[in-house]
Amino acid sequence: MRSAPHSLGRFLPALTTVVVLGCGAPSGVPLPGALRVQTAGPKAAGSAVRWLLNARILDPEARTERLGHLQLQGGHIASVHRERPANPGPNTVDLHGAWLLPAFVDLHVHSWGNPSPLPGPDHRCGHAETARLMLAAGVVAYLDLGSKPRTIFALRDQVRAGLVPGATLYAAGPVLGHIVGMKPGPGGPDARLRQTRTPAEGRAHVRALVASRPDIVKVLMDHTGPEQDLSLASLNAIVDEAHRHGLRVICHIGTWQDARACVMAGADALTHLWDEDDVPAELVQILAKRRIPLIPTQPVQVDLPHFSGPNAPGWRDPLLRQLTTRHLQETYRQTARFVQKAKFWLRYQGAHAKGYERQLLTLHKGGVVLLAGSDTGNFGTFQGYSLHRELALMVRAGLPVWAALKAGTTAAGRFLGRKLGVKVGDEASFVVLAASPLVAISHTQRIRSVIVRGRLVDRAALLAGTSVADTFRASRCRRR
Ligand SMILES: [Zn+2]
Repeated sequence: MRSAPHSLGRFLPALTTVVVLGCGAPSGVPLPGALRVQTAGPKAAGSAVRWLLNARILDPEARTERLGHLQLQGGHIASVHRERPANPGPNTVDLHGAWLLPAFVDLHVHSWGNPSPLPGPDHRCGHAETARLMLAAGVVAYLDLGSKPRTIFALRDQVRAGLVPGATLYAAGPVLGHIVGMKPGPGGPDARLRQTRTPAEGRAHVRALVASRPDIVKVLMDHTGPEQDLSLASLNAIVDEAHRHGLRVICHIGTWQDARACVMAGADALTHLWDEDDVPAELVQILAKRRIPLIPTQPVQVDLPHFSGPNAPGWRDPLLRQLTTRHLQETYRQTARFVQKAKFWLRYQGAHAKGYERQLLTLHKGGVVLLAGSDTGNFGTFQGYSLHRELALMVRAGLPVWAALKAGTTAAGRFLGRKLGVKVGDEASFVVLAASPLVAISHTQRIRSVIVRGRLVDRAALLAGTSVADTFRASRCRRR
């Protein structure tokens, strides 16, 4: 069986890249239509909002849209009103009929930066910048599923302590798997992969991770090619040891047989799709019955052609241009110069997109819980932006818009213990959209504002701290 492009590269891109640091940006970018707190009250970043008036409230759980007014308190929704309050008082924001949606969550990220498909430097802007890009894209929480543990856990703790602006980072740290022929090290304790040749090694890796309080344990169970060979016994040992320590396990799957092995081992979630065989009906039933969620990560599996070549449609999206650099766009234009791996992905994805879509639709129709994840950090994916693509690709595969919205907001939030929503008591984290995603799913990108736990995010400031302009040529993001 041949190796799918996602089998190895999806979690190891940074191992082969040239180190480029420090994507900064020169200046802020005006954001037409961005909201301001209208009456007395703080105007700077993080302004507390007490009332949100005249919102078209979208509820992905109830699948309803209704006009209403929300009162916020302590980072949550205190009350929901059909009638406009007579005297809302200070810290009131009038949305003038804009669409209010629970904020986005991305459950599969490698947050080091964006790869270039050309030989040469990547846009390795760093984990802290990704936290900012995510929030600017309306993603309030994301799960990093494979990064250097020291780096990622330290940043996670800083973000949670409010020391680094951006979306809330959840992290697995390293990946547990078995790469055939890979020698132990380099990287030592900070390596991205924990080579796992025996069950005892698997248990030891989990125990060593416990002190870092990972938000989940990621295991690589992928037999799409000869490069990887985690044994069933090692898989079982990892899941068992993680559960003993109260940690959940997410399984990167290759084939459907890998998926079945993960389910039988007791894994708490699966990620990726396999398209070269149809997903067995029995597996669909088990996933649905046990409510084991699957994170499809369509952007990493089908989206590279959408951004490749001189006239690639993907780069027309204003949000993508806001979140990346012109230089990165240039690299995607030059398909003839792509590195071999990117050329292979381009061919493979072009030929396999329909197959992936078919599997995704089968899983949805079978009642499997689907949660959104982008697998950014890989070719054809972009930090913050590709979560929007995951939702669009779900809809393209045939899922109802409401199902895609739920997968990328409330349901994904629940997986991280975040009660996102539009009901009383729900966390007051929202995106405000200038157009309805029910009309076109791409309208999730038409972000006017982001609100996190009842505070209006200063998106302009977030974007000013990132690679909005062509910072590469301004040598703010260059090879060291
Ligand atoms: Zn991944």
